[in-house]
Amino acid sequence: MSTPKPCRKCLVSALSDSTVKQTVARSVAEISQNEKTDEKDYQKRLSICLSCDNLLSGTCLSCGCYVEIRAAIKRGRCPDKKW
Ligand code: SF4
Repeated sequence: MSTPKPCRKCLVSALSDSTVKQTVARSVAEISQNEKTDEKDYQKRLSICLSCDNLLSGTCLSCGCYVEIRAAIKRGRCPDKKW
């Protein structure tokens, strides 16, 4: 099996690797409602990540996190203070 090419400006949800997609989706689903970012702010955070040069295949190169998980946590912060 070939290794998927890294994708700049892609979130994990847009990648073809279903194992990583499932892991990220499960992690987001496990965040309790009172710790979860509301949907509007979540989408706003992800849109900032999508225009950031530090995004690579859904991973933030500044901190190594999957941005979809970090952004889903209300108290989560961008390591470069972009959100
Ligand atoms: S968390 Fe911040 S530094 Fe990382 S990709 Fe998103 S906007 Fe860029």
